[in-house]
Amino acid sequence: MVEKKNIDWSSLGFNYQKTDYRFVSNYKNGAWDEGVLTDDDKVVITECAGVLQYSQSCFEGLKAYTTKDGHIVTFRPDLNAERMKNSCERLEMPVYPVDKWVEAVEKVVRANEAWVAPYGSGATLYLRPYMFASSAVIGVKPAEEYQFRILTTPVGPYFKGGAKPITIRISDYDRAAPHGTGHIKAGLNYAMSLYQIMDAHRNGFDENLYLDPATRTKIEETGGANVLLVKKDGTIVIPKSPSILPSITRRSLVTIASDMLGMKVEEREVEFQEVRDGEFAECGLCGTAAVISPVGRIFDHGTYYEMPSGMEAMGPVIQKLYDTLTGIQMGTIEGPEGWVHVID
Ligand SMILES: *Cc1c(COP(=O)(O)O)cnc(C)c1O
Repeated sequence: MVEKKNIDWSSLGFNYQKTDYRFVSNYKNGAWDEGVLTDDDKVVITECAGVLQYSQSCFEGLKAYTTKDGHIVTFRPDLNAERMKNSCERLEMPVYPVDKWVEAVEKVVRANEAWVAPYGSGATLYLRPYMFASSAVIGVKPAEEYQFRILTTPVGPYFKGGAKPITIRISDYDRAAPHGTGHIKAGLNYAMSLYQIMDAHRNGFDENLYLDPATRTKIEETGGANVLLVKKDGTIVIPKSPSILPSITRRSLVTIASDMLGMKVEEREVEFQEVRDGEFAECGLCGTAAVISPVGRIFDHGTYYEMPSGMEAMGPVIQKLYDTLTGIQMGTIEGPEGWVHVID
């Protein structure tokens, strides 16, 4: 057991803080090198690097937790590796092999063990694997060289003082084009969402809810989280569309709901009209950072659609899902085989 850093874990927010080591591997002449752990947090690349000119980059996000019995674990890292593979293939980037990817996660977590928050502190070590084009391109084409890195940073509970329901609004801009890049974790999907998120905040909303870009009638997701709805009879409803980013949290919650909690789950196209018609009792946004953020109301061009769960607390179904998933991650509830990846 290494000695933990002297950090006030409970006061951490969701911010970057430099830790001791990061994993770095370079792709050159058609092959990845072995990769190293380094204390150098600086990236030095040519001014003409593909990432700087044409945004050839993608990323992932996952966390390392300390379980109740003192193990350091990550949650389904193989799915992050697979998803980055899909992102790379869509962006003409070289794939970092899935097994090596998971090994790199293990290495960087072990090297930063002192930064993995203790059990019960509410904090975790956030891991940010990412890849970018590092060699020069001036004509529009993929670069020849790439860098894959994993940085780590301790983060606090996403919600300080409990998960207060948020207000989201229907966006008049689109997040993803039909047949575009919405289903992969490309940095460019976030660059073009920054105006919308700032505009939402300027107008007093927490997040944007994007509808399907072709017809603007069906619910897709928010800028960085998938949507989960609960019908009045307790059925979980998950919007389905080829331009939604396949959230690992959401996929896990679906399994938990149907296989562990015996809930009914529908994965299908969801018309926004169903919200207008008052079909839903609860709504939440899911992703690694927040697990589930409850949504209290949705603003649609002048009209608020309130969830019966209200603006004070999570609804009971979302609370149950939240408790079960975090229980699995923290080792107090047994989850499906292979979900918890023990590192130490
Ligand atoms: C990363 C991301 C999510 C959440 O995915 P998780 O695997 O659950 O962290 C949802 N939507 C978008 C657009 C994302 O980029």
